[in-house]
Amino acid sequence: MARTPVTIVAVGDVHGHHRRMVALVERWTTHHGVVPDAVIQVGDCEPHRHLDDLTTMAGPSKHKRLGDFADFHEGRSRFPWPVYFIGGNHEPYGWLDQHPDGFELTHNCHYLGRAGSFEVRGVRVVGLTGIYSSNAPASRPHPNSIARHSNKDHIWTLPEDADVALDAGPAHVLITHDWPEDVLAQASAMDRRRHDTGNPHAQALLELLQPRFMFCGHMHTRHERAIEHDDAPPTTFVGLDHILSGNDAIYGFSITP
Ligand SMILES: [Zn+2]
Repeated sequence: MARTPVTIVAVGDVHGHHRRMVALVERWTTHHGVVPDAVIQVGDCEPHRHLDDLTTMAGPSKHKRLGDFADFHEGRSRFPWPVYFIGGNHEPYGWLDQHPDGFELTHNCHYLGRAGSFEVRGVRVVGLTGIYSSNAPASRPHPNSIARHSNKDHIWTLPEDADVALDAGPAHVLITHDWPEDVLAQASAMDRRRHDTGNPHAQALLELLQPRFMFCGHMHTRHERAIEHDDAPPTTFVGLDHILSGNDAIYGFSITP
């Protein structure tokens, strides 16, 4: 008997606009006549329950807005399908880092942890949280640590996180927040817009896991291309735009393992 394909919808940086994300995916669902088995989100999700969560997020104060996650957490709104997200550089890490291996924040909303995976009918999605910096500290402070640390100390991807993500493979789908460094360098050369360094851990995972699809956020720009591998089918790479951009923030696909 033929296996039923698994339908997944990937969405870009949500930045606290959770109702907007639900509306965008619902529009995609109506248009395509398929209900997704899972929604995956590439970080900068901003699931703040209250102001205390917001104070544990790194970023300038003009970007610190509560968003509408509390409606979902308190049951006034709901996610119609399971949502799985990784952390970006703007998250309430005071809460998320209490659960470095991931957890369900509220019904149908799952954090994958610092590195993690989930599977739907044989299709495996692997995710890596945080962004890369060559100046990142070698370890992460405990969120309740009484020693002084800044919110920014929590945003980095560490090498051991990438090792956990690699061990979670093989992967059909890979999600990271910032882009693999070579992919970003080639894209920047094309559009000459941004010159971030990119993430060497994400690059290594792309090359070693050779997923069918890879999704990233962070740049708030849409970019799509095929990444060739010597001994595996190419990866469809998609950089997703900010959720408020609409269609450029969403990519739905069906996949059979
Ligand atoms: Zn963002």
